[in-house]
This record gives sequence, C-alpha cells and structure tokens, in this order.
Amino acid sequence: MGGSNIRLVVLDLDGVVYLGSTPIAGAVETIRWLRQSGRLVKFCTNNATRSRQHYAEKLSGMGIPSTPSDVVTSAYAVGLYLRQRSQQPFTVLAVGEEGLRIELSAAGATVLERVDVTTRVDYVVVGLDRAFTYQKLEMAFHAIRNGAEFIATNRDAAAPMEKKDIPGAGAIVAAIEAAVGQPPAVVIGKPQPTMLELLMAESDVTPAMTLFVGDRLETDVLAGRRAGTRTACVLTGIASAEDVRRAPPEMQPDVVIANLRELKEWLGEAAG
Ligand SMILES: [Mg+2]
Repeated sequence: MGGSNIRLVVLDLDGVVYLGSTPIAGAVETIRWLRQSGRLVKFCTNNATRSRQHYAEKLSGMGIPSTPSDVVTSAYAVGLYLRQRSQQPFTVLAVGEEGLRIELSAAGATVLERVDVTTRVDYVVVGLDRAFTYQKLEMAFHAIRNGAEFIATNRDAAAPMEKKDIPGAGAIVAAIEAAVGQPPAVVIGKPQPTMLELLMAESDVTPAMTLFVGDRLETDVLAGRRAGTRTACVLTGIASAEDVRRAPPEMQPDVVIANLRELKEWLGEAAG
C-alpha cells in the first residue's frame, strides 16, 4: 500500500537529509518536490546540542529553505514539556551544551550552570555534553537527591559526528542514573513518540496522514510505530537492508527505500 493520503512528512536529519555537513544525494530535490506537492515537511532530531535556529540555518544553507518552526529537537521538546507542567518560573540544572540552554531558556526556564549541595532546583535535564565532568555529575547527583526531577533529552548510546561516532547523551544519563540509583522520570527523544506527537498536533494531522522517515530502526522506526504514523527506513544512514530483515516486528517500517528519491513512487504520484 502506498502513501497517497500522506499530508505531513517528518524527516530525521543525520543519515536521512545529510551526513555531517554534506547533503545526501536526492534530499534537496525530494524535499522541494514534497513541498511543491502541497505536503508539509518537518525535521526531527534527538540531537540536543544545537538550537532549532542552528538547524534551520544549516538546512537553508544546503538549499532546503527552513525556519526554526520546521524543526523539533529533543531540547525544544523538553522545554515545551516542562513549560506545560510547571509553575512559572521554574529552575533547571542543565547538563548539556548550548542548544539545550537556549531551548530551555526560550521555554521560560531559569537555567542554572552550577548548584551546590543545598540548592533546590525543579529539574535536572540531561543531554549530550562534550564538556561533561565529575563536578557536573556531582551537581546533578545533589540536585536530584534534593528533589529535582531527572529528565533525559534522549538515551542514545552513541551520536554520529562528522567522521566518527562519539558517546551519546545516553552514556551521561547512565552515569547520573548509576549515581542516584534511579532512572530518568521522563525521556523525551526517540524512540519515545513525544516529538512526533508534537509535530502532528502543530500541523493538525492524524497519524494516518503522517510519514516518518528515519535511518535507525531502534529509535526512528520504533518512535513512528509508537506514534501510530506510517514509517519509512532509508538506507543512507545507519540501518542496512540486512538490519531491517533481522529486526523484530515492532521495528519493521512500512517501506524500505534506498534513498529519498524513492519516496515519490511510494507516495503514489507520477514523478513531478
Ligand atoms: Mg539519523
């Protein structure tokens, strides 16, 4: 069954639209075609180190004109989540990079960089932090022991960088989890469906009208399945055709495509 009723196409970024700073062949033209065909195109990434503004500028610079409202990151989604359920103003100890601090501040949080043994904060939010130290681990430990809620942007064990993988946010979350003896109360990023639910609500579409395109089975496809969207796995990133064959039923996509150009055919339209 094709996808002729799809109105919203959500694309993961790394491994789908680009690899590092290089657009993947076919991505620019396919996204242009999707928009010309009247569909909404949005972008979704677990990466919390950069702001939505950063991604919009990066995409625009590749020939994919975008605004921050076209992009959801796990940092942005955490900010919205906390704003919706907190008394104003609320305080956050952020273990993460600039993008996390920007999005939490934009959501109304008072973002603290350091706390002492007795400081009370509402939340400890953890993302990938390439300047993570024992001191930061200790601050998170005391804040959570003093009653802060432990929130993870995502639990990705590894994160793709330009030329190599590096340890991801999940490794830092695990260090804090081990210290405090409890897992995060909430994990926002994929494979949780939160970011996709946010995009569908903003776009006023149902899961049946939504296609999520990703390159990882255990995060992207699983998130799409949990959100109830249609799912496509594109073989330009992490997952191989062999990985798809071996994946359990809950990680099976509706369609496997070699590259984004093949979306045209699946969406049931003549090439245009
Ligand atoms: Mg990816």
